[in-house]
Formats: sequence, structure tokens, C-alpha cells
Amino acid sequence: MDKLLEQIKKGVVWPFSGGIHPPQQKSLSNSASITRLPLPDKLVVALKQHIGANGKLLVEKGQHVLKGQALTAPTANWSVPVHAPSSGIITDIAPQPSAHPSALPELSVVIEPDGKDEWVALNPINNPTTLSHDELVNIIHQAGISGMGGAGFPTYIKADTKQPIEFLIVNAVECEPYITADDTLMREHAIEVIQGLELMQQLLNPTLCIVGIEDNKPEAIIAMSKAAEHNEKIIVQTVPTIYPSGGEKQLIKLLTNREVPSAGIPADIGVLVHNTGTLFAVQQAVYEGKPLIERVVTVTGNTIHKPGNVWALLGTEIKHLLDCQGFSPVPQQRVVMGGPMMGFTLPTVRIGVVKTTNCILAPDHKELAEPGPEKACIRCSACADACPASLLPQQLQWFAKSKEYDKLQEHNLFDCIECGACAYVCPSEIPLVQYYRVAKMEIKEQQADKIKADRAKERFDARKERLDREQEERQNRHKRKPAAKSADEKQKVADALARVKSKSDNGDEKSAVAAAIARAKAKKLGDQSAELEPDNSEVAKERALRKEQARKYKDQKSQTDESAVSETPQSDAPVDDKKAAVAAAIARAKAKKAAQANEATEPAESEVPQTDTPVDDKKAAVAAAIARAKAKKAAKALEDAEPTVSEAPQTDAPVDDKKAAVAAAIARAKAKKAAKALEDAEPVVSETPQSEAPVDDKKAAVAAAIARAKAKKAAKALENAEPAISEAPQTDAPVDDKKAAVAAAIARAKAKKAAKALQDAETPSAPDNTDNSSSSIDANVPKSSDDKKKAAVAAAIARAKAKKLQKEGNDQS
Ligand code: SF4
Ligand code: SF4
Repeated sequence: MDKLLEQIKKGVVWPFSGGIHPPQQKSLSNSASITRLPLPDKLVVALKQHIGANGKLLVEKGQHVLKGQALTAPTANWSVPVHAPSSGIITDIAPQPSAHPSALPELSVVIEPDGKDEWVALNPINNPTTLSHDELVNIIHQAGISGMGGAGFPTYIKADTKQPIEFLIVNAVECEPYITADDTLMREHAIEVIQGLELMQQLLNPTLCIVGIEDNKPEAIIAMSKAAEHNEKIIVQTVPTIYPSGGEKQLIKLLTNREVPSAGIPADIGVLVHNTGTLFAVQQAVYEGKPLIERVVTVTGNTIHKPGNVWALLGTEIKHLLDCQGFSPVPQQRVVMGGPMMGFTLPTVRIGVVKTTNCILAPDHKELAEPGPEKACIRCSACADACPASLLPQQLQWFAKSKEYDKLQEHNLFDCIECGACAYVCPSEIPLVQYYRVAKMEIKEQQADKIKADRAKERFDARKERLDREQEERQNRHKRKPAAKSADEKQKVADALARVKSKSDNGDEKSAVAAAIARAKAKKLGDQSAELEPDNSEVAKERALRKEQARKYKDQKSQTDESAVSETPQSDAPVDDKKAAVAAAIARAKAKKAAQANEATEPAESEVPQTDTPVDDKKAAVAAAIARAKAKKAAKALEDAEPTVSEAPQTDAPVDDKKAAVAAAIARAKAKKAAKALEDAEPVVSETPQSEAPVDDKKAAVAAAIARAKAKKAAKALENAEPAISEAPQTDAPVDDKKAAVAAAIARAKAKKAAKALQDAETPSAPDNTDNSSSSIDANVPKSSDDKKKAAVAAAIARAKAKKLQKEGNDQS
């Protein structure tokens, strides 16, 4: 190490292989100082001018911005901001042609300068040694500084390198034949460049800082040496003029004899390289507080009347640079951004200057001849001899043509710095570098696709793994479930046995207790077991409640029926006697039938009361209704009596005793007839209330009174007739035929009983007119004239039948 340092300090350089010596044209532009151009009409500031991501846009169209105002804010992924190069109005934010051989559109902020060139408020640092590492790095970051030598690597990343840096190298080797921007910058701003180097020295603390300058820049060497003489850790090293000694790897080899490994970076070997212009920008950012908004650009070529170096605002269109420097284009004029070796021809001059733009070359045809048609490789190996990266350009070209990307990578295509030395020396004029550039781009696309595919595969594998895991978990659950199920089934069986036992031992408290305990245990074992033995107590309660309601409804209904029956004049009959209720119903039906029969057979008579009875006489109708009710009661009494009378002769009367039988039959027939007559006469009886009929309906009241009197008379006649009938068999029957006599006596007794019942039925007619019955009567008051007519007809029929019955009684007697 000490030996190396000593060697470096002694000025030893270690040449790299390859390289060429193209003719130098630096004198065209390095004779004059750097000039400042007038403000352009517009500035096209591309958001991305470096390696890394765009910053976040902070401005909008139409907004006025100041010089140095940030247009974007840095984000992640090596993003650095861009700033307004001058004050003005943002006229557009849109994709614009980029500083690239393809001129692919790049999002850009278009600013129309207001001519004031008014700076934003600046924050210069007079003594940056007081700044912390992060503060200094942040200033560099916010200033939007990126490598100005060509690659555009974000400077704050290099400034914050965590790897130990042994040699900090300043790349002042401007190897391109035409470019003099760094040369003039060092000549005019050597102190600032050294100050920038010292800021990086503060951040990285390298063992030694080496300023590498080609020996064709004597003024710059002097200026830089003078500016750095106060710092013993900075040495200015002169390197031979050979192209491409300005290449990073080549310069490291020249100055330190160290080689960057393939696919590696300088920091891997303890080396860090900064461009001269980058260090100047760092100094401006810290000491002046100015962001990176301009840079020195060499405008040269035989078509330029005033070749030289200019301070070009970033975003200044190339056309403005050419016009300002006196551009006289020739037919099929080419404008190259960069040097003739590594630069590229611009598709248009309406492209803005970016941070890596160091030269605009506008050569004539003599100066930079058009490459002739590509010829076949003659395998001269001149390309390999010129390659500074020790590659095999010829072989790489074959692989690139056949798109053998694996072979290209095996042959370290990416170690190619695209210096163009191989193409420069190729006698077949094969554009070798273009092949490499295309191949590199395609390989990068493939790698990007592969990264996408790998990520997709990772997602797929992760998803598949998740699905497999879930499936396995499901299977495990299914495996565990049968075991649990068997336990449940055992419990089910136990519960079922308990229930069966409790049922078989119905009434056995011990079994019930055991069943309850079993159920409790089943509930305790879980819901599933509980479901197996449902609790029916609630259902049983509901069922019992429904039964109770049905029972109550039934009782209520029967009470309602009974009350209905009791409302009739049959209130003397036992309430609970169903037979009496049925008999009463039969009696009512018979009474109605008799009324209908009388209506049909005696229409003439029915008309009589109609004429005598007033149509509007309600009381008469009420009386008729009462009469019908009483008639029903009498019919009931007679009906009860009839079977007894009729059965007596049938069962007890001797077969041979014809007279007795005949007498009994006659008695029964008369009894029936009398009952029928009484039933038909009920309306007459019911007319009793007609005594309270209105005074003006005298005829109806008289008729009702007559009917009642006749009914009584008929009953009396029947009573008188019955003994005669009963006695007739007695006189004619044999003395010793006791059974016949007994039957006849029973018949007579029953006939009497019936007559008595009829009498009883008639006598309560007066009480029926009391207030107690008025309610029921009122309820039955006929409302229509038809009902009144029917009542009158019934009364007339009763009267007629009473007459008939009286007549029959007389005949019988
Ligand atoms: S320099 Fe050109 S012709 Fe010669 S080997 Fe290389 S590619 Fe072939
Ligand atoms: S362009 Fe590449 S292959 Fe050709 S000489 Fe330069 S480094 Fe070698």
C-alpha cells in the first residue's frame, strides 16, 4: 500500500491495454473563455436526466417559477430533482424529445423565461465543515447533482458510499478529441473544483485524492495544482493523451494500477471517481446554495463560426446553442451530442441540454466523414488491439448479429464502455458499437422480462404453497373429525339409552333423574350432543296450553248452548240433561212443522186474523212468539209422555186381550192427537200476552182470549176423555188379566200426566209477561210484517184446532 502510494505520489501511471490516438481538435474551443448565452425563448427541462427514477412533479402548467426553484422533489430509487433554469412561466408539461439517439419522448417542463432571470432564495453555506455528513449529502441531493461526465450517476449516492474509499479520483481526462469543457472549467474555476473535491473528501475521507489530467491540458494542470497545493491529500496527476483514458476503469488503471472487476464498481476496489464538472456543481450547491441548472458545453465543429465553451442553461435547445455560436449547416448536416468517439447523432436540434451534455459537435463532411457501407470482417483483429477493455469486438459482433445473448454475456459484453475505438480502427467500417448497444438493450429487456417472470413465478409458488397448505389443513381437519365424531356417537348412544330407560321406567323418579343427568351431561359435552337430545319441554307446555284452551272453549260453548236452552220456557228442565235438550229441539221442530201444516191447510182461516189484526201491532207479534215458545214447552212435555203411553201397551199388554189392547191403542192415539192439538194450539196459548195488546186492537185481543179459553177447554175435554178410554178396557177386559189392566192404568196415568203438563205449560203464561222475560221476548219481537202475519195465522190455527179438539172430545165422551 505504502509502495503504491509512493508510486502514485511520484507520478507513476500504469497504462491500460488498447486505446487509440485520434487527431485532436481541442484547439478549436479551448482558446476562449467560457461565454454566457442569452436567454433562450424556451427551456425544455426533462424530468429525468440521470440514472434512476423521476422526481415527483411539484409544479403545474401556467405556474410562474423562479430561477433555481425545484420543479420536482426527489423520491426513492436514486431520484434527484430538477430545477427551473430561469424565472418564467410554465407553458407546458408534456413529453418532449429526449437527449438520446432514439429521441424517445421524455416528460419535460417547458418554461418560457420572463427575461428577469430572478433567483429563488438561496441558502449558501460559508463554512461547510460545520455540516454533518447527512446535511452535506442532503444539500448535494436537493441540488439535483448527478454525474456530468456521461453516465449521470446520482452524486449523493456516491457521496454517501458506505464502503471505505482509499482513492478519490477526479476525472479531468477529457479524452474526446473535440471536447474542452472540463479543460476550460478547470482553467477558470480550478478553486471551485478543488473546493468541491474537498467537500467530497470531507464526506468520504479517502487516503488520497488524485486529479487525473491528460498532458494536453497544461493550463488546467497548472490551475488545478495551484488550487490544490494547500491540501496535501490532493495530488494532480498527468496522464498520457490516449483515447479512452477518460474511461472510468481505464483512468483507475492509469492512476492506481487497480482494475475494476467485471460487473463490479470502483467502490469494490476502494476507489471513487468524480467528474470535474460534478465537483464544480457540488461546490456551487454548498457554497452558493445554487442547484444544478447550467453547465459548460463545448460547441464546436467546422460549421460553427464561434466554437467554444458556453454556460448553457439546462433545457436550452441545441438549436439555440448552435445559433448563438454561429451555425452554418452543410447539406446532410449532422449534429452530434458528445464527442466524435462516444457521442450520438441527434435526430433533431430541438432537444434540450441535459446534465450530461458536454459537447455539441456540428462537423462538416471533411471533418467527420460519413461512414461507408459495412463490409465483411477480414479478421484483422485491429478491433481487439484497440479495445481498452480487453474484449474481442469481432466475436462480440458475431454473437450480436446472431442474437446469441448468452455468448455475449459470457464474453463480457457489459465490460464494453462503448468507446468506439474498435469501430474507429475497423478497416471494414463495421459499426461495431451500434451492434453492442442494440445487443445490450435487448439483453436488458430480456433481463427485465426475466425479473418479471421470476416475480410472477414467486407469486405463483407462494400461492401454490398457500393452497397446498390450506388443503393439507383441510385434510387434517377431516382426519381429526372422524375421531371426534366417534366420541359424539358414543355420547349419542349413551343419551339414547338413557332416554329409552327413562321411558321404560315411566314414573320411576330414579330413571327420570338419571335421564335428566344424562341430558345435562350431553349438554355439557357440547352443542352437537345437545342437538341430539332436544328439549321438548317448551313444546309440551305449548301443547298443554292448547289443550287447556280447547277445553275452555268447549266448556264455554256448552255453557252457551245451555244458556240458549235455558232462555226458552224449558227452564224447568235439568240443565245438564242432554236428552231434554234434544227433546226440546225436536219439539220446536214439530211445532214449526205443525204451524207450517196449518198454514197450508187453513189459509182461509189464517186470513181472518190478518184482516182483524192490525199489521203494525207489535205486541200481538210478541204475544205470538211467546205463545210459540210455550207451545214448544207443552209439546216437549207431551213428547216425554208419549213414549211411556205407547210403550206400555206394546210391552205389557197381553196379546190375547184385544179389547184392552184396542182401548190402550185408542188411548195412545187420542193422547197423541191431544198432544198434536195442543202443539198446534200453542200459538193460542202464546197469545196470552195479547191481553196487554193495544186498546185499539181489540179484535186481536179478543181472539187470543177466545183461543186460550178454547185451549183450556180442549185440555179439559181430553182429561175427561182419558178416563173413559182407560175405563173402557177395564170394563171389557178379563178380570184376571192383570197385565192388561196395569198397562191400561199406566196409559191413563201417562195421559193424565201429559194433560197436567199441558195445563202447567199454560198457567205460566202470566209470569212470562213479567219484566224478567221481557228481555228475551224483546229479543224475539218480530220485526217484519211476515212474522206478524205468521203469528196471526198461528193464532187462528190454534183457535181452529181447539174447536176441532173440543168437538172430538165431545164425540168421544
Ligand atoms: S477490426 Fe473490423 S475487420 Fe478487423 S477483425 Fe475487427 S471487426 Fe473484423
Ligand atoms: S467499444 Fe467496446 S469493444 Fe470496442 S473498443 Fe471500446 S470497449 Fe472495446
